[in-house]
Amino acid sequence: MRIGGIVKQSFIDWEGKVTTVVFTRGCNFRCGYCHNPSLVLPHLLVNETDIPENQLFDYLKTRREWLDGVVVTGGEPTIHADLESFLEAIKNLGYLIKLDTNGSNPMFLKKLLARKLVDFVAMDVKTVLDLGKYQQIIGANIPDLIRKIDDSIQILNASNIDFQLRTTLIPKYHSPDIIQQLQTQFSYCNYQLQEFRAGDTIENRVVEKKEMP
Ligand code: SF4
Repeated sequence: MRIGGIVKQSFIDWEGKVTTVVFTRGCNFRCGYCHNPSLVLPHLLVNETDIPENQLFDYLKTRREWLDGVVVTGGEPTIHADLESFLEAIKNLGYLIKLDTNGSNPMFLKKLLARKLVDFVAMDVKTVLDLGKYQQIIGANIPDLIRKIDDSIQILNASNIDFQLRTTLIPKYHSPDIIQQLQTQFSYCNYQLQEFRAGDTIENRVVEKKEMP
């Protein structure tokens, strides 16, 4: 697995649980508000060295008594074919696993759920399921995007694991009408609106790169 960062102990990334958080490298989206540009933008990725997997596993082996689980986030973890074996190795150490995903890889998600390799999924729903509106936010052209996002939601609905859908609110994209539509559509489940926080974002880094001589 391409690991870009590890937070050894977190009390805030999985409600009620003490976790280690693993940040995977690379993402198929380019959300302007993304706070992890160094995990996403290729020109920043080339300057970074991956953290070896054994560094993570050596740590996890010594912390089983103190940690409840591992949060696997990104980037987008499901773009990595070895995610399955990576999660399996974490499971074999006796940990619960929370997976964060943008929902663009429903078949892989379905397989991970069928194999019981995840215990909780937090999935971004960037906005209402409209191609134009979605693409404005993610800044990428993904084939069959809306079908894939919808399939991921349906797969989570049909599963028997806990999941959360969440939307980061960007004032220029999320009008009160869109927020209302989202809240209505997902009123049946654990749905969370998150405030956008300004900072080191992809939008800033792309502007910075364009301005470089
Ligand atoms: S916020 Fe967007 S670009 Fe950043 S990791 Fe998530 S899906 Fe990828």
